[in-house]
Order: sequence, then structure tokens, then C-alpha cells
Amino acid sequence: MSLKCTLLIPNSPSKSGRVRRFQIPGTRTRVTQITTFCADIVGPGPTHIYLVEGECIVLLDTGIPASLVKKLFYSWRGEPVPPEIEALPDNYIEEQISTGLKAAGYAMKDLDILAISHGHPDHFFLGSHILRHGKPKVLAHLYETSAISNPWEMLSRWISGREKIAALGMPQPSYPSLELAEHVNREAEGLAFRVDIPVFQDSPLQVNGSTVHDISIRHLPGHSPGSIGLLVGARDEQRILLAGDAILYPITPVPGDLLLYLRTLRKLEGLENVALVLPAHGRAIKDLRSRVLFLQNHHHRRLRLTYEACRSPRSPWEIATMPKYFNVRLDPDKFNPLAATETLAHMEVLLMAAGIFRSHIRKGVHYFQNSGEPFRDVYERVKDLVNDEKTKPIMRY
Ligand SMILES: [Zn+2]
Repeated sequence: MSLKCTLLIPNSPSKSGRVRRFQIPGTRTRVTQITTFCADIVGPGPTHIYLVEGECIVLLDTGIPASLVKKLFYSWRGEPVPPEIEALPDNYIEEQISTGLKAAGYAMKDLDILAISHGHPDHFFLGSHILRHGKPKVLAHLYETSAISNPWEMLSRWISGREKIAALGMPQPSYPSLELAEHVNREAEGLAFRVDIPVFQDSPLQVNGSTVHDISIRHLPGHSPGSIGLLVGARDEQRILLAGDAILYPITPVPGDLLLYLRTLRKLEGLENVALVLPAHGRAIKDLRSRVLFLQNHHHRRLRLTYEACRSPRSPWEIATMPKYFNVRLDPDKFNPLAATETLAHMEVLLMAAGIFRSHIRKGVHYFQNSGEPFRDVYERVKDLVNDEKTKPIMRY
């Protein structure tokens, strides 16, 4: 028997608001997907949040307030806010959450657990809103607690990131970024909240000292250090993996740490009885193994391109803006932190595998050159690093 999917509410013209329910056959375990608005193209696209009805009631992720979508994804990139997005009311996404929960027969006061897949703004910035209307215990990985609970975390990353931007050779943002960062931080200050249940390893969900048998936590680091997924359904049944941003389709997740991410892909490859993967953005994934294989090949190709680009000394930003490095040609004069993070993650793994080395620093920009070996020899060492779990990556987020 395959999973049953029921459409409860279709998408609105903002390409969000859809509510779908997935039922695991032969059980009472259900997952409801609520699609909340987030910026497309300049952002990751609408964020799916999930209500899990198992032995307890869990909400995974929250989405982000409409006002912060405008600031973080448009103003931050120096892009104009399209009029239809400017016109969205401030409580647009809060209403989508309430409507979605109601369609499934619930309200915020019914939640036992609010789980956060990771501490990026599009995943937890409406947590404080949910906590004002209900009393769920907040669960997140220990490594994400500073992003979720410290109101100054975003501003501090922003300010320290400015030096990194210069070292990469990427242009600084054209707007007065510090003022915008301070402004966003004032708004985000009230959005931080306490994590009640910090988790740090794969385990069944525990609530008030008892084990929840049909929901377990999987640590899936790489996109961020403490990314987690929820595996819904008991072992011998068909299970649903709620994957956060650890695995996406059709977009590919940006790995903050590629070595950890490649290990996570290997771990996902070994997961049994996964009938469906429901990610935080984009479409559902029916065949986990083939998506994992696609992503492994994708990073293999990008590692090779990065290695070959360093035949002569190159800065990370020169590599990111090479033709065909990304599917779309990037404007070298435009600040693009996601592209820079993606490029740097590949360079870092090549550095660890001694495939590239830093040749020199000129005017504060770092340049890298390759070892001159055939790429396949370097890739063998990358595979050794991925397989040797004891090798600690240099964390860089
Ligand atoms: Zn996301």
C-alpha cells in the first residue's frame, strides 16, 4: 500500500498557502505539509512546515514573517521588492500557519513539540509567534541553539562576515549594509527564543521522559552544523523523512561544510524504508537513493571544476563567477553570499585533501592554486576524508 496524499487547500497566487496531508497506510500517523510564503529566485522559495500527528503532536519549522522576507531576500541583495510582494500584509505567513493547522483539525495550543530543522531565518523566525499562542517544548540540535536563542547572533555573523567577503574577492553589498543589518536585528531581536530540548545525536523523540515510537531524530549536518531531520513512522513501516534543507529537489542545498555534507549524503543513502522525503523547499522526493546519487555527482563535478580552475592562481570569487561554474552566469560586480559559500565549501575540501593550496594574498584577497596532479588522484583523497569519520573538518559557517 502506498502513501495516501490528500490536497486540503490549493496554493494561492503567491505560490504558497497549499496544505496537503500524507497518511502512512495501516497506521494513524499523518503528516500535514503547510506551504508558507518565502522569496523565490532571490531566496530559497516557499518554506514547507510540517505538522506530525504521531504519538505526540509536533510542528517542524515555522517560516519567516513577510516583512523579513522583503528585507533579507530583496534589500539584502540590493533587489527591488516586486509590488505583489510589497503588498502582502505583515501577518500573511502567520495566517497561513493558522489556516493550515485548522485544515488539519489543530490549533497552535495543541502542539506538544516545536522542532526546528536548523537555525536559518526562513525556518525559525516565526517560532516566537507560535510560542505566544501555544506552549510546545522547543527542540533543536545543540549546535543551532545560538542561532535560535541569541538575538545578536545574526548581527554578529553579519559583521564578522564582512572581512570574509573581502578575503574572497567578492564585492561588498552596494547598500549601507551595516544600517540594514542593525535594522533587521532590531526586528529580529524579539524573534529569538529558548530551546528546551537540545539534541545532539540520532535518537527517538523523547517527551516528558517517555519515548515516542513513531518519530525519531536524525542529525544531518552540512547545510548547517546542527541540521536535523525527523523520521516519521515505526521501523517496519513505510517511513517519511522530513529533511529540512539537508536534501532538496529540484534546487541543491548549499553546503556550509561540504565534508560533513558528503558524509550526510552517505548516511541518507543507507536509510531503509523511506517511502517519501518531504523537504523544507521545493518538491517531494520519491526515490531517496537516486537523489543522493545526483547530489554526489553534482558535488564531484563542482569539485573538479574548482580544482581545474586553480591551474593558475584564482580567488574564490573569480571561480564562482567563471562561465558554467553555476547554471546561471553570476554578475561579478554583485554581492552574492550564497554563491560564495557554495564555492568556498568546495575549495575547503580540496584544501583538506591537499589538492589546492594558498599561493598568495594580494590586497587582502586570497588566491589558490592546484597541485597539478590528475583530479582523480585528488578525488581519491577526498573520498578517504569522507569515509574517515574521525577526520575533523574545519568548520566554517
Ligand atoms: Zn531554508
